[in-house]
Amino acid sequence: MKYIGAHVSATGGVENVPLHARAVGATAFAFFTKNQRQWSAAPYSPKSVDLFRTRCRQLGYPPGSILPHDSYLINLGHPEKEGLKKSREAFCDEMKRCEQLGIDRLNFHPGSHLHRISVDACLDRIAASVNLALEKTRGVTAVIENTAGQGTNLGYRFEQIARIIDGVDDKSRVGVCLDTAHTLAAGYEIRTREGYEETFALFDRVVGFRYLKGMHVNDSKKELASHVDRHENLGRGVMGMNLFTFIMNDPRLDNLPLILETPDESLWVEEIRLLYFLDVRG
Ligand SMILES: [Zn+2]
Ligand SMILES: [Zn+2]
Repeated sequence: MKYIGAHVSATGGVENVPLHARAVGATAFAFFTKNQRQWSAAPYSPKSVDLFRTRCRQLGYPPGSILPHDSYLINLGHPEKEGLKKSREAFCDEMKRCEQLGIDRLNFHPGSHLHRISVDACLDRIAASVNLALEKTRGVTAVIENTAGQGTNLGYRFEQIARIIDGVDDKSRVGVCLDTAHTLAAGYEIRTREGYEETFALFDRVVGFRYLKGMHVNDSKKELASHVDRHENLGRGVMGMNLFTFIMNDPRLDNLPLILETPDESLWVEEIRLLYFLDVRG
């Protein structure tokens, strides 16, 4: 089956996240494990953790349908000692929060070289950061999100993602999330049947389908190879609707969290319904 959801808010506490997902008719969800624009946050209370777990069970959100997102402040490839240390600590804390909640994967943006170290040095540093976090946690997979390649953000080429994975010791706990808007902005044509098949075949060759742990389903305001990261609601950007039909009918994407990160939240109910409608098999 297809798990379809959105990146919902954690207002009122983490225990409310499954309720917010339910309210938009989602069968999957993403959320920030803590405030995405602050370095530190209070630990979850045991009561919140219990309630989160209970609600996920009651509302039918198994671990494979949940893909939280890490803070935007974290740069696991930071060129400087201080920034790197802070990022590694924060990432480890987020991985531990997932472990507490019984979540088996955490999505993160790989990192940025900030023009101070080489691309390869930055990628190797990201892999080392992932190794540190995996050593300190159990049962949570670090999921690398592909990027648009805006600024000095890495992870926009499949080869860069493959290099990070290559440097991770425990291959069973590293994965990839493909964001459709980022994929297009990075220069991969996915809007035509031919382009879609070629891009996924390339992903399989360079990275490997076994690493795919989720997708972000977004339309894009910006064109192919723009390297600009601007999401748009489905059907309102440059993507067209074919891509979403391909995704919904692609058995390789069954049982993975497929998450909307589209800007107008009031359309999520409709977008989720539309995606299910596009699945001609179901
Ligand atoms: Zn992201
Ligand atoms: Zn994304």
